[in-house]
Amino acid sequence: MFVLKFGGTSVGSAKQIKAVANLINNNNRNIVVLSAMAGTTNSLVEIAGYLYKKNHDSANEAIINLEQKYYEVIDELFNSETYKEKGSELIKSHFNYIKSFTQDMFTLFEEKAILAQGELLSTALMHYYLKEQKINSVLIPALNFMRTDKDGEPDLFYIQENIKREVENFPDNKIFITQGFICRNSFGEIDNLKRGGSDYTASLVGAGIKSDEIQIWTDIDGMHNNDPRYVDNTKPLASLSFDEAAELAYFGAKILHPASIQPAKVANIPVRLKNTMQPEADGTLVSSISTGMGIKAIAAKDNITAIKIKSGRMLLAHGFMRKVFEIFETYQTSIDMITTSEVAVSVTIDDTKYLNDIVDELKKYGTVEVDSDLSIICVVGDFIAESKGYALKIFSALKDVSIRMISYGGSKHNVSLLVNTSDKKEALVSLNKNLFENV
Ligand code: ADP
Ligand code: ASP
Ligand code: MG
Repeated sequence: MFVLKFGGTSVGSAKQIKAVANLINNNNRNIVVLSAMAGTTNSLVEIAGYLYKKNHDSANEAIINLEQKYYEVIDELFNSETYKEKGSELIKSHFNYIKSFTQDMFTLFEEKAILAQGELLSTALMHYYLKEQKINSVLIPALNFMRTDKDGEPDLFYIQENIKREVENFPDNKIFITQGFICRNSFGEIDNLKRGGSDYTASLVGAGIKSDEIQIWTDIDGMHNNDPRYVDNTKPLASLSFDEAAELAYFGAKILHPASIQPAKVANIPVRLKNTMQPEADGTLVSSISTGMGIKAIAAKDNITAIKIKSGRMLLAHGFMRKVFEIFETYQTSIDMITTSEVAVSVTIDDTKYLNDIVDELKKYGTVEVDSDLSIICVVGDFIAESKGYALKIFSALKDVSIRMISYGGSKHNVSLLVNTSDKKEALVSLNKNLFENV
């Protein structure tokens, strides 16, 4: 069995939905995980924002605009009047549901329910399209099997048991369609796996049913060696190890949700990144095998905050680090980078929800400085064994960029550098030239 996930652009128009229908109708048994059509989740977030502010006029306008786009899609997607009518009813019912929230109180619960409509719509449209084409498929609702536990983490056992049951109900079926991104929380309420979460759904489903492969189909031909949104001349990588791909995803390579490699790695299921617009391109294979030495790729993660705790007297005393880390643990805030000196320790975080509380508590142990608008540049590869010269190449590329922190040696796959976000593009471009173009 295979799991094939198609992102927003891959199902972003009637033409694309037809192209995807073609790709999933092959000789394999496929579980197809779909994102919302491109732009829909952003629009739903915008609508929810208006509803929070009780700006019902703007909410209604945005809802009507989005609804209109869907009527245009079904007109192009379906051939027969019967299916145009079915599609129309479907859209009406989802948008009436969204409109029902413009009357009432609006909370996080309603927001999550609204955000879920994008994936519910795209999967239902795909299912209807396949039906019209007389291609047999089953729609399996993600809300029946995708669930998070009381810590907000995917409940792997529940997911595994329930996805298996959903699939076993249809032993003769080859195509199963389900929603990415959406899930239920431990109270059974509608929730989601955070933005970009459809990749995570695919990986959790793949691990749950022990699929042969997890395929992430998107709008680019695999993981590139640098961020194509900021750098020209980036190139796709033929293969990566799970650890390398996980580092790149965590540190900003948007092609993969930050957590999406972990379930595949634990279950040892290869992840193939493919381009829907160019299906014949090789893409990238992520597996347990690491091929080639040296620096492979660069990614960058924004919205980083650095916290420096200076305490000449206490820093290197026993237990000081434990006390510092306990504060971050209490506030469930994870640390990305750490550097120490004789008199100070600096850490970075990306979640600033409890920043003020954390700083107040840290002040018990020394002076505290906070810096924001920073980015972590993450250089990934397999290079410690042959590390001679790599550090020099990295630093000479960054000779005109002020570097705030460096983390080297934490793993043999990663060198992380903290820079001002305003210098990020220059840093990425310059690293690209020094590491990949002038070799
Ligand atoms: P989808 O909607 O299919 O999930 P995303 O927009 O989430 O697609 O991810 C694909 C995008 O990720 C690409 O279009 C590209 O701009 C961006 N991206 C960022 N870093 C990388 C990288 N290292 N390799 C490939 N794509 C990347
Ligand atoms: N539709 C969701 C988003 O835009 C999930 C996804 O595309 O992966 O974030
Ligand atoms: Mg994505």
